[in-house]
Amino acid sequence: MLTSLRQFVEQAVIGDSVPRLARLGKSLPPALIRRIQEDGFRKTFGYAAKRQKFLARKLQAAGIQPERVRRPADLGGVFTTPEDLLSRPPEDFLCREPQAVFETTGTGGEPKRVYFDYRELERAARYEAAALYENGVRPEDRVVCAFDGGYWISSWVTFSACRAIGAFSSAVGKPAPRETYSRLGLYRYNVIVADPTWLVSLSEIAEKEGAAPVKLILAAGDRMTDAYRNYIQEVWKAPVILGYGSTEMGGGCGMECREQQGYHLDEFNFLFEILDPDAEGYGELVVTTLGRRVMPLIRYRVRDVARVITEPCSCGVTLRRLSAVKGRRDEMVVMGAGNLHPAILENVLHNVEGISPNWQVAVRQEGLHDVLEFRMELTDGIEASRVEQAVRQNIESRYPEMWANHTCGMYRLAFRFHRPGALAQGRKMRRLVDERQG
Ligand SMILES: [Zn+2]
Repeated sequence: MLTSLRQFVEQAVIGDSVPRLARLGKSLPPALIRRIQEDGFRKTFGYAAKRQKFLARKLQAAGIQPERVRRPADLGGVFTTPEDLLSRPPEDFLCREPQAVFETTGTGGEPKRVYFDYRELERAARYEAAALYENGVRPEDRVVCAFDGGYWISSWVTFSACRAIGAFSSAVGKPAPRETYSRLGLYRYNVIVADPTWLVSLSEIAEKEGAAPVKLILAAGDRMTDAYRNYIQEVWKAPVILGYGSTEMGGGCGMECREQQGYHLDEFNFLFEILDPDAEGYGELVVTTLGRRVMPLIRYRVRDVARVITEPCSCGVTLRRLSAVKGRRDEMVVMGAGNLHPAILENVLHNVEGISPNWQVAVRQEGLHDVLEFRMELTDGIEASRVEQAVRQNIESRYPEMWANHTCGMYRLAFRFHRPGALAQGRKMRRLVDERQG
């Protein structure tokens, strides 16, 4: 039987060594990585086309003959979506008997369920270990991981990654930050792994009561803003490195290096595509798992909008990078101002005085023209005209292209002001709405 190119490299060059695996990400020329990915795609696709009911049905409906598929583009409009995982039974995706299951909850309703075997989880852990090693984690370090437990995958994988490195580790679920703070000295933890907002709470305690010596902080999960990151780094005097991934990807699929300029992608285990990229290369991330055999995902639509950075990174790692996620595909609105995401509007309204946190921006249509309408509640007795002026200035200085589109008439700006409380919408405000017809 032919072993795949990746298996050959792994078995012949690396074995179980995490440092050697980390070196692989620095030494393999990009052309060889592309070949490993192409080879991996053909093997995974061929395997799944024979065994995965979901994929087989999709191929049949699209009139695609599996033996003709060499690369993702040959699959045309065949994708796997989060909705597919939610609406179909696991048997439709399972190609082999599973040994573990993890869940991920979206915005309400049933969780998505993703199945693995032990070998796949160990493998995910070894690659996470290599990324941690590259960021300086060594056997003599002591890691506390506060990723949530339960049916979440990240805590399990990080614990196994520490085991692969040989570092002391505690994966303790997500305790109150105070509980972890009180044990930092006792167990001499010097690496902290957690969600951004949890890290902010921990750092607030440390800012008042003193920060223990920590060499590295790894964060993943909800959105990390620059303000959060700077604050945490300042308190601990340690770098905050971000990881990117999800349960569907079996934990992480990318991690920053010390340059903090994008996630180096795990191109050995995943093939990445950017769907319908805009002029700057931003589009929806689509991922095919290359190593998994229990529940392989072929062209899974992640719904995150990002771009792949192809320029080499000064850290020397040859794996390509993924930019910071700009937003969710389902929250993006394409209009005269460009591709708008809620995060862009958050930046536009950041530091604008005289408005409450309840605001919304709507895209409307008047005749043949798009209108970008800011709906805000006035507070502190500040005049509407001043708020309006600040918003215009922020667009001009923070998003020059969006402003250029405005000055050449591609859309109009409108402002509506309300009493405090008038725009409140309950728990979660929809920041950006598209109210155009059709
Ligand atoms: Zn780098």
